[in-house]
This record gives sequence, structure tokens and C-alpha cells, in this order.
Amino acid sequence: MIVILGGGYAGLSALSENSNAILVDRKSYFTLTPWLIDFVCGIRNETEVKAKYPKVIKGEVSKIDYKEKRVIVGETEIKFDKLIVSLGHHQNLPRLKGAKEFAHKIETFEDAVNLKSKIETSKNIVIIGGGATGVEIAGNLRGKNVTLVQRRDRLLPTMSTASSERARTLLEENGVKLLLGTEALEVKKNSVVTSNGEIKSEVTVFAGGLKGPSIVEDFGHTNKNHRMIVDKNLRSIDYRDVFGAGDCATFSNEDIPMSAEVAISAGKIAMRNALGEENTFIPRRTATILRVNNFFFGDFGNSYIEGDMAKIMRGLAYVQSLVLPARGVNV
Ligand SMILES: Cc1cc2nc3c(=O)[nH]c(=O)nc-3n(C[C@H](O)[C@H](O)[C@H](O)COP(=O)(O)OP(=O)(O)OC[C@H]3O[C@@H](n4cnc5c(N)ncnc54)[C@H](O)[C@@H]3O)c2cc1C
Repeated sequence: MIVILGGGYAGLSALSENSNAILVDRKSYFTLTPWLIDFVCGIRNETEVKAKYPKVIKGEVSKIDYKEKRVIVGETEIKFDKLIVSLGHHQNLPRLKGAKEFAHKIETFEDAVNLKSKIETSKNIVIIGGGATGVEIAGNLRGKNVTLVQRRDRLLPTMSTASSERARTLLEENGVKLLLGTEALEVKKNSVVTSNGEIKSEVTVFAGGLKGPSIVEDFGHTNKNHRMIVDKNLRSIDYRDVFGAGDCATFSNEDIPMSAEVAISAGKIAMRNALGEENTFIPRRTATILRVNNFFFGDFGNSYIEGDMAKIMRGLAYVQSLVLPARGVNV
């Protein structure tokens, strides 16, 4: 029996290759994470962000026993012959003092609902982190005092400098106060302490760094961000019958990008290899496109693009992810 842990992009994609596998997730629906920020900012509604699983065992995975080949899900034990670990990632809140207690994150639909209702009744919002998530939230909130705190001296540090510059001008045009080269040191109930002073905050959003699930730390090799190490075929370097796909897994010598598109192709390869094939996984990310105030821009391969072209590319990059749950329903 092949067991898939985690029904995100990678897990659902793995299931679409082999409908006999068992899929386990803590929730009973699939989340279209790229639309969570749109939901928070009132651009999309709940039905666009959640989709039905074709089948799922609902429960919290609390232990993976690689030697005995079993996983503990709630009170139940599930045996496996092959295992695909696709448990995603978390924002690394414990990294920043007070963040766990006082900051919001945005990973799940519940996070998005909480954040949306808190933002609706608040004026002063502080976003920690100037990556894609931080920029999109800051850039799409209306009628608020938004401050974005970014440790590096530019936004979107993993993207082209043209994208960074565009993000900066768009956020400034939207009235976002940018604190670049500023480190968040502590989150308090009503403020954020930074290397440049303390800022009043009714809602603090932490988008400042990701880590893999703590459950994969219990075995063998992980990288500095707690992602499990896999070989070129996505097989765990510690256990032959275990594969890793999506955000929770990476190579030892090269980071696998964290994206829906990459997770979908990894899920397929992991399942084919679990079924006995030997396919090499080559991560490909077609485009990284952001939307700020209905303006689309970002990187397409090595080029910067914006406007209608970027809007089309964002659509194309997500076509696969949009059809994924629907395909699943028909399995
Ligand atoms: C707000 C936001 C916006 C994003 N925007 C984009 C974007 O525009 N484009 C893009 O390409 N990527 C985007 N991403 C990144 C993208 O969502 C991830 O790269 C992708 O979801 C990775 O897929 P995955 O299958 O590895 O993990 P996930 O999709 O995170 O799935 C992991 C699954 O594991 C389950 N799980 C975790 N732990 C347990 C447990 N212990 N027990 C049971 N179940 C468990 C979770 O419920 C979840 O369903 C965004 C992410 C976020 C949070």
C-alpha cells in the first residue's frame, strides 16, 4: 500500500497518478493557497479557495515510524509499503520573540478567516517579511495604515531586481510605509519592536521565514530549514521506501523552489517512482507573478514582465493547480 501524508499540491498530484493510494490530511478539503491572500483582501470568496478531496483519511499525523513502516494518525495506525511525505511547510514563528503569541500567519484557510476578521476591525497593520506573501498582503489592503518591515535592503530578494523595484514603487504608491534594512526583534500585543524603533500594530502578520514540518526532523537528514533531504528521484536519502515531494523536501546541494507548480510535478514523479519507475526530478518554475492592486508583474524565466503579459502568465502557471482538485474529484 502506498500512503501519502499531506493533501496539498504535491499529495493531491501524487494521488491523481494512483487513485489506489491512501491520502491522509488533517483537514477534509484542499486549499488553493495562491488565492488565500485574495480571500483576506476581499478579492475572492471561500468557494474559490477550498475544493473537495476525491478521498481522504482525515486526521493529524503525529508519528512516522520508518523502521516499522507505519504512521500514527490520530488514534489509528496505518501500515505502508511505500510512503510519500508531502506535509508542506510552516512559517517559522518561534524564530522571532513574541511571534507565536501575537503574530498572525497565513498558511491555512482558518488563518485567512482569522486574519480577515481581525483586519476588518483594525487600522494599523504591520507585515514582517518582504517576500511574495508580505508584498501581496501589503499591496492589496485598502484604507489601512500598513507598514512592511524587511530585514534585507530590497523586497522580493529571490526575484529579479526589476521585480523588487516594481514592488517597491507599487507599495509606495499605495501608501505602504516600507522599512527596508530593518530587523523585527520582537512582536508585542500592540506593537512590533524593530532595529529602528517600536511601531504601533493592531494586527501583525509574520511572513518572515519558512521551515519544514517538525515531524520530518525526527528522522535522518534535513537541511537548515528542516526540509527532508531527497535524492534526484525524490527518494529519502535515509529510507529507500520513503519519498518526499513539495515544500517539505529538498536536495542536499540545491534548494527545490517552494511553489505550487513545482509541488505538482514533484508529486507525480514521487508517485511514479514509488510505483517502481526511476524518474529524475528536475524542478521547473515557469513564472513567479505577483498581483499588487490589480497590477501584475514578476519574473518569467530570466525576464521581467508586467501588465497583461504577466496576468496571462500567472493564469497559465496556475492552470495546472486549478484543475488538480477537479481532476481528483473525478478519480
Ligand atoms: C499565502 C500563500 C500564497 C502562496 N502563493 C503562491 C503562488 O502564488 N504561487 C505558487 O506557486 N505558490 C504559492 N504559495 C506556495 C504554495 O502554496 C506551496 O509551495 C505549495 O502549497 C506546496 O505544496 P505542498 O503539497 O508541498 O504543501 P501544502 O500545499 O502546504 O500541503 C501540505 C498538506 O499537509 C497537511 N498537513 C501538514 N501537516 C500535517 C499533519 N501533521 N497531519 C496531517 N496533515 C498535515 C496540510 O493540511 C496540507 O494540506 C503560496 C503559499 C501561501 C501560504
